[in-house]
Amino acid sequence: MATPTQANLKDKNAHYASNFKEGQLALPPAKKYAVVTCMDARIDPAAAYGINLGDAHVIRNAGGNARDALRSLVISEQLLGTNEILLIKHTGCGMLTFKNEDAHAVVEKNLGAAGQQELSGLDFQPFPDLEKAVEDDVKYLKASKAIPDSIMISGWVYEVETGKVNQVL
Ligand SMILES: [Zn+2]
Repeated sequence: MATPTQANLKDKNAHYASNFKEGQLALPPAKKYAVVTCMDARIDPAAAYGINLGDAHVIRNAGGNARDALRSLVISEQLLGTNEILLIKHTGCGMLTFKNEDAHAVVEKNLGAAGQQELSGLDFQPFPDLEKAVEDDVKYLKASKAIPDSIMISGWVYEVETGKVNQVL
């Protein structure tokens, strides 16, 4: 029995594939850039950020976190030729709503001692200040020896309330 989400995938994909005509795109992103943004369900990166199929890498994780994205960014730049990063966090981010100790308490309650042990010491990397978090992540990427100085890096905030994007730096 397919779950509703599995059924949705099959149905919607069948429709998508029946109209699909872009199977000849090259592997390296045509516009040579990578976007790091949050996994938040309210963000549609392709539409909101103007990304056409084949143009860019979109790396998503909780918070649009640069440290989490580093592995993918190195692959994007060194193996697939991208030379610019757009770091885009957003208003109303879940990462603004908790502290590390809160997340660890939930983990311990829901997953028990074994789960807590596996995740002990993990920094969930929540942040209390949105613009400062954008600045910190851009600073981290610029300081990283894994990201060459030639890579253009900018930081942005997307507003889930308006759909607008604003440059922080
Ligand atoms: Zn978020």
